[in-house]
Amino acid sequence: MTLYRNLTTAALAAVAALSWGVTAKVCIDPGHGGSDPGAVGNGQQEKTNVLNTSLKFKAWLDKDTQDGNGGGSWSIVMTRSTDVDVSLQGRCDIANNNACNRFMSIHNNAASDTSANGTETYSYTAPSTSSDLRDKIQTRMIEAWNRTNRGVKTAGFYVLKYTNMPATLSELAFITNAADSVYTGGSSWQDLAGKAHMFALQNHYGLTAYTPQTAQTYIVDNGGAGFSASSNWFASTSVAGYYGTNYHARATASVSDPAQWTANIATSGSYQIYAWWTAASNRAPSAPYILPNGTTVNVNQQANGGKWNLLGTVSLSAGNQTTKLSCWTTSGYYVIADAIKYYGPN
Ligand SMILES: [Zn+2]
Repeated sequence: MTLYRNLTTAALAAVAALSWGVTAKVCIDPGHGGSDPGAVGNGQQEKTNVLNTSLKFKAWLDKDTQDGNGGGSWSIVMTRSTDVDVSLQGRCDIANNNACNRFMSIHNNAASDTSANGTETYSYTAPSTSSDLRDKIQTRMIEAWNRTNRGVKTAGFYVLKYTNMPATLSELAFITNAADSVYTGGSSWQDLAGKAHMFALQNHYGLTAYTPQTAQTYIVDNGGAGFSASSNWFASTSVAGYYGTNYHARATASVSDPAQWTANIATSGSYQIYAWWTAASNRAPSAPYILPNGTTVNVNQQANGGKWNLLGTVSLSAGNQTTKLSCWTTSGYYVIADAIKYYGPN
């Protein structure tokens, strides 16, 4: 009866509308950059590793934001997103001037003793809001990479001390250690580190760890939000197999007078559109659905009732998108308006 998003969990009925558990502005700080390579080892430069990791972290948060079914809504500020010099005070200024809620600095560790290895995470003080996030990052990073757990620590690092908001600094692993460097420089490991930092942030804000889904499902049921039809359409439960609590029906006629299902699409892309009706011998054998791109798809509503039937795949832009069912077809039948499902982008 309502416009649902992301029907990927069992708790369909609880998802009444777009809702995120939390909204926050996060500053992501890839260490070093430009003329400062940071640590080097095993053919890698820290500035490159941590930029790639930070961009993957940002991508996870953006995906979480686009997915309204769980997780958070994050606005992201990067201290750098390319290979450039940014001073330590410059990094603090970016976070402070943007009034970010959290500051998360990403680094690789290094030591002259190449046997040194493992993961550690810092805050300026503890216990504090900073150390709460720090602790959760450490937990999630150990879970993601399973490197030696060097524990959580405090330090007066410049960016921890001179940022106005709770701040953390992650030393993901040692670029100078051969085994650790597989992780620091590995693209899929960097992606998992980004995801681990997203999980930590979600947990820090009291949310269950949530992996955002790329493709989303929008169902618009008759009578609920997003559905409209003239009073010539009537609600009925006469034929079983309807979606939700009932369906709408209308006698066919030489006018369009369409029933309409509108979904607010969050992300542009390719979507499958499905229709649900109840089948009976008095249904239109050629019921004309009009897709958002204007294409008309005629379906036989005397068959395939009580299930999703693919009408077609169309390219949709973000925003309201409407599928219609006209009653203008062979006279002497009924057209049935029950539910429409949009699935994508994919
Ligand atoms: Zn560093």
